[in-house]
Amino acid sequence: MAARSLLGAGRAGCAGRAAAGLCCCSASRAGPHCTVAPQQQQPQPPPPAPTPDMKSYLWARYREAKKVTKDLVPSIMSNLLNPDAVFTNNEMSLSDIEIYGFDYDYTLVFYSQDLHTLIYNAARDLLINEHRYPAEIRKYDYDPNFAIRGLHYDVHRALLMKIDAFHYIQLGTVYRGLSVVPDEEVIAMYDGSHVPLEQMSDFYGKSSHGHTMKQFMDIFSLPEMTLLSCVNEYFLKNNIDYEPVHLYKDVKDSIRDVHIKGIMYRAIEADIEKYICYAEQTRAVLRKLADHGKKIFLITNSPSSFVDKGMKFIVGKDWRDLFDVVIVQADKPNFFNDKRRPFRKVNERGVLLWDKIHKLQKGQIYKQGNLYEFLKLTGWRGSKVLYFGDHIYSDLAVSNLFFFFIVFHGG
Ligand SMILES: [Mg+2]
Repeated sequence: MAARSLLGAGRAGCAGRAAAGLCCCSASRAGPHCTVAPQQQQPQPPPPAPTPDMKSYLWARYREAKKVTKDLVPSIMSNLLNPDAVFTNNEMSLSDIEIYGFDYDYTLVFYSQDLHTLIYNAARDLLINEHRYPAEIRKYDYDPNFAIRGLHYDVHRALLMKIDAFHYIQLGTVYRGLSVVPDEEVIAMYDGSHVPLEQMSDFYGKSSHGHTMKQFMDIFSLPEMTLLSCVNEYFLKNNIDYEPVHLYKDVKDSIRDVHIKGIMYRAIEADIEKYICYAEQTRAVLRKLADHGKKIFLITNSPSSFVDKGMKFIVGKDWRDLFDVVIVQADKPNFFNDKRRPFRKVNERGVLLWDKIHKLQKGQIYKQGNLYEFLKLTGWRGSKVLYFGDHIYSDLAVSNLFFFFIVFHGG
């Protein structure tokens, strides 16, 4: 129906142009597409105006197709997929793996929901006390069910949304503050639902100049997304004029400071049982690997004293006896691609030593370094190495050198 209407309009347009002497087909060269012979030029009725209900017709078709798809997908999924199964991209036998590597946060150590509330509250306080945001934003408590990992945030429009792997906005998921934005408004704003590649944040989920669509990949970013939305909500509800770019930066800096200023580390260390879960299971896995003669290494972005206290709680005072190599503050993903930064030894009191590192020794803790040096000093690479991490981008960077297993969790 739509095609017929458009085709009809095209012919009428050609006839109209011919009548006005604007048609490309001259009297002697009238093409087969031109239905008006020059000799038979008669006054033609004006081309029909676009069908006024075409927009509602297309919306109705869209909603109908969406409903059919929605009804179909669950039945296909339930028939083909076992929700309790584990799926992998490579087949391997654990008996062939000699070396096991681990990330720390959300891989070896799992945190309770209380940690997200802690980060949210601390960042909200920094916004109020250091960035001078209105104290009324304190009335917005952390909602653990508001955001999921992987969402995108339009920094200029202050909109949180889900975008698929082909850069299409998933309609119905776009939030301004704490309210859903109607689909029609989203389509009008973005001239459809596709976001150009040049606006998306980079491979590691980071934004740089011109990349205004920031993706939140880290599980620590759940409180960040919720705080952004709550402050947006406060400003919108109270008709306060504000610059969304400034808000994004201030919230980002506040969340970063909760880590950098040690607020989060001190709070966890002060009440470790409240924040760390499944310690017994982690301990059992590590002991089993060690008992079977496997080599184990740890590469984390977290600082030495924080990891030491957490691992003492999970494994015990002798936790370093289980690990052949321990690297802290590795600065992943830069650890995987920046060859310039050497390893540095950290002593028992957390002091950085200036010795040149010729060997990564068991029982020692090293800071920073890089993957190329790690491979050179250990000789560990290839199919005998299995690395566990939880960050879909930064941890996955090792997947061309080792087997890789991503840890999913419901946090
Ligand atoms: Mg992690």
